[in-house]
Amino acid sequence: MSADSTPLADELVAVSARRERLRGATWTLPSTTRIVTIANQKGGVGKTTTTVNLAAVLAAHGARVLVIDLDPQGNASTALGVPHHERISGSYEVLLGESAISDVVQQSPEASGLWCLPATINLAGAEIELVAQERREFRLKEALTAYLSTEEAQGFHYIFVDTPPSLGILTINAFAAANEVLIPIQCEYYALEGLSQLLDTIERIRAHVNPLLQRKTIALTMYDQRTNLAQQVAQDVQEHFPQEVLATIIPRSVRISEAPSYGQSVITYDPGSPGALSYAEAALEFAGRFGGQHGS
Ligand code: ATP
Ligand code: MG
Repeated sequence: MSADSTPLADELVAVSARRERLRGATWTLPSTTRIVTIANQKGGVGKTTTTVNLAAVLAAHGARVLVIDLDPQGNASTALGVPHHERISGSYEVLLGESAISDVVQQSPEASGLWCLPATINLAGAEIELVAQERREFRLKEALTAYLSTEEAQGFHYIFVDTPPSLGILTINAFAAANEVLIPIQCEYYALEGLSQLLDTIERIRAHVNPLLQRKTIALTMYDQRTNLAQQVAQDVQEHFPQEVLATIIPRSVRISEAPSYGQSVITYDPGSPGALSYAEAALEFAGRFGGQHGS
């Protein structure tokens, strides 16, 4: 068998074709700020990984991006290389009205146009502390509206809100502030469990709290092409949500899981890896969704 007909050679050809397509692609920037909440009450499905990697790719292609970390675990802050120890002010102080977003946002070392509103462990108390506050679902929305009217916040193309694995008041705040939802779904058993509850919650928020919340995107994550199960889950989601699901499927990849421990996205940690390539393709697809956008 000649070398150029082996599966490995075929794969190399396919990968270089994908790279070529990305190189020739036109990246569009939205004409108004896309505020995207990344949510799934199921834990460990790739919410944070998808948030930081999409944000990093879009920032690398000229977008101005803010990541709001609304998870007390602070994983997005870590992955973006932004300090978030207890004494640092962040999303907790913003939700409680003690700080303005402009006072506590930090630039990520990842890219010049990438900013992060970090989460500290203090945020773990917010669910309870917010119960007694007025308009507790709208704390983030109000802070964000104030921020976006300042001069320094002009020109943000994307704001991504990473949420904890629950449908509590933090996630509700994220839904109330957003005009889009991005739902990562892990290509594993039980992947679809809880999805109808999540979609019902989003629908209720749309009906009663935030009529802007109409646009939904689904991203399939941690796909292992060797398993029938992963293929089955991907196929089910594609059949049920043909409009919502991104064609790009994020593979399971060790490089993706290693990157956060270096305070990096996979895009900077290992730009040549298949995981970086997939997140670049997913970001390109995401940037092209919902029309109404102007070329950069
Ligand atoms: P939580 O609900 O706890 O916030 P999450 O939904 O944000 O979790 P992640 O933290 O993004 O999920 O991912 C869960 C774990 O899986 C992490 O250790 C992450 O590094 C790893 N992981 C995410 N995506 C991939 C991937 N494509 N390949 C390999 N590992 C991945
Ligand atoms: Mg997370």
